[in-house]
Amino acid sequence: MEIPILDLKPQYQLLKAEIDKAIASVLESTQFILGPEVEALEREIAQYLGVKHAIGVNSGTDALIIALRALKIGKGDEVITSPFSFYATAEAISRVGATPVFVDINPETFNLDVNQLTPKITEKTKAIIPVHLYGKPAAMAAIKAIATKYNLWVVEDCAQAFGAVYYGDCLECQGNCDEKLIGKYVGTIGHVGAFSFYPTKNLGAYGDGGMIVTDRDEIAELARMLRVHGARKSYHNEMLGYNSRLDSLQACILRVKLKYIDQWNQQRRNIAETYNQLLANVEGIILPKISKGHVFHQYTIRVLNGKRDELKSYLAERGIGTMIYYPRPIDQLPVYKDYYQPSPIANQLAKEVLSLPIYPELSWEKVKFVAEKIREFFEV
Ligand SMILES: *Cc1c(COP(=O)(O)O)cnc(C)c1O
Repeated sequence: MEIPILDLKPQYQLLKAEIDKAIASVLESTQFILGPEVEALEREIAQYLGVKHAIGVNSGTDALIIALRALKIGKGDEVITSPFSFYATAEAISRVGATPVFVDINPETFNLDVNQLTPKITEKTKAIIPVHLYGKPAAMAAIKAIATKYNLWVVEDCAQAFGAVYYGDCLECQGNCDEKLIGKYVGTIGHVGAFSFYPTKNLGAYGDGGMIVTDRDEIAELARMLRVHGARKSYHNEMLGYNSRLDSLQACILRVKLKYIDQWNQQRRNIAETYNQLLANVEGIILPKISKGHVFHQYTIRVLNGKRDELKSYLAERGIGTMIYYPRPIDQLPVYKDYYQPSPIANQLAKEVLSLPIYPELSWEKVKFVAEKIREFFEV
């Protein structure tokens, strides 16, 4: 049996008629950049998330960069984020001229450890970028409380978490959290949310794409200008912007897929639950906790005792694809060699994490096969 970590084909086959029709109509319209399809997607996503503005851009990376620029963050400023994320999170901070400051993560949620946040705040700190890693909402109540106290912006990196819902900071309890936030979609809790539609994400296009969401008119207006060369109207450029427009083909595909996202996220959760049942009591691994609202962009286990790479090869030999997200904390990438900021938990997890196959159409038989092979590895 061949089980890749992700297979995008079954979803296309399922939606082929609908998607092909939508693509054909865009081709007929010859309206390829922004235009009615992008506007419709922006409206539909704003409505889905319950947020005032949604602005389609070229990628998740651009969504972060433009969000930071719209908040007027730049040279001399510091932005706090997680070292355990895709490089783009920190790259966006550096790209606008600011300095990323890394705060270690909580080993159970893989997200920012809010208890370590305050000591990292300086006079230069302007914002916090929590990452909802693997589709698990970060501890937004604590992050918002700290941001309010120190007058900081909160930009949510929702690249892996379209449709994820916040249900409290703690994994099991629901106490001590800001009740007003419970039940809100990620991206609508901070001041700005940044989404990616990279094809492998939970809501994936067939090319690059991203979106910025916010309730604030002035941020939305700046973001709309920044995505088209800093111009409110043509030939009236007011600032250095970007060419970061979402294209209509991607928007029409995303509009089809948006109708299914809740169903797909539920299927991901079901797969995570099945893995957790089938892998319960396997010694030498730690399973992810299934908290309410988690959309399992990745299902990531921790493999203890230095066995991770061995297990990865063992599974590969049996046709099972796995990935390591992420093999190095961001502050240890060559580009940040001068910034090294020790993050012992992120360091440890970089050696332990292994993401298993997960996508909505992954069959029960395949999940069972993966789990059996993992059991086998630890039992021989
Ligand atoms: C994918 C991803 C991004 C970047 O999105 P692109 O659309 O690829 O630019 C940023 N942050 C995180 C956490 C991601 O997973």
